[in-house]
Amino acid sequence: MILATRNQHKIRELEEIIPGVTLRGLPDDLESPPETGDTFEENALIKARAAREATGEAVIADDSGLEVDALGGRPGVLSARYAGDKATDGENLAKVLAELGDTSADTARYVCVIALIDDSGEHLFRGTCEGRLIGEPRGEGGFGYDPAFVPEATGPEDGKTMAEISPKAKNAISHRGAAARLLARHLADQAHS
Ligand code: IMP
Repeated sequence: MILATRNQHKIRELEEIIPGVTLRGLPDDLESPPETGDTFEENALIKARAAREATGEAVIADDSGLEVDALGGRPGVLSARYAGDKATDGENLAKVLAELGDTSADTARYVCVIALIDDSGEHLFRGTCEGRLIGEPRGEGGFGYDPAFVPEATGPEDGKTMAEISPKAKNAISHRGAAARLLARHLADQAHS
C-alpha cells in the first residue's frame, strides 16, 4: 500500500499501528497536489486521488491540524502554514497564541483524517484528540502546536503538554493514532469478509 507522503516518520508510525501492512512512500517523480480543500476530508482525498491516479495501487493519505474553538476552528486546514507559506512551527504557534490573547475559552482539538482508496472505492477515517491550549508553551517532544496543547486524555490534573509526554503515550491518545486504528479495523474486517 502507498502512503501519500515523503515523511518516513509517518510511514513508520502508521506501520506500527496497522499490523501486517507494508507502506511505501510516494514515487520521487510525483508532484504533491496543492491542498486547496476547506476540510481535512477534502485535502486527504485530494492527496489520495493524486497518488491513486499516478500508481493505480491501494493508497492512503492523511491530513491533520488543530481546531481552536475560540478562533472559530482556526487554524484548521491552514495549520501547517498559518503564519505564512514558509512559517516555522514556532511562528504558527505564536500566531495562534497571540490571537487567543488571555481568553479563557481555550478548548481545542487535533483532527486527523485518513483517506483510503482501493478497488472497493474511497473511504474516510477521522480521529480527534480533545484538549486545551496554554499561554506558555512547555516541552521538547512532539512538533507543531504540541508545546501548548494539553490533552484531556492524560487527565486534567496531569497538565502535561503533548510535547512533555513520550511518543508512545502520544500515539495512544493522538488524533493520528485514533484515525489509524479505525483504518486498521477496516482493513482487518475487509480481509476477513
Ligand atoms: P499535515 O498533516 O502534515 O498536513 O500537518 C498539518 C499541520 O497540523 C502540522 O504542520 C502541524 O502544524 C499541525 N499538526 C498536525 N498534527 C499535529 C500533532 O500531532 N502535533 C502538533 N501539531 C500537529
